[in-house]
Amino acid sequence: MLKVYICPNCGNYRFVTSYNYTCYKCHCAMTLADIEYKKYIDLNSDERQAITNRYKTRV
Ligand SMILES: [Zn+2]
Repeated sequence: MLKVYICPNCGNYRFVTSYNYTCYKCHCAMTLADIEYKKYIDLNSDERQAITNRYKTRV
């Protein structure tokens, strides 16, 4: 099953099936988001942004 990972550094997200969860932009380790892929893709951009903000540690 796909999992949603969010980069705490740049806020980038990606969907991951394996253990390859490195951000392709800044190459740091990404954080597993507490949301299913199926739910995530149904979100609008504002809702996605809210989730990103929860995991993003740098502004
Ligand atoms: Zn990143």
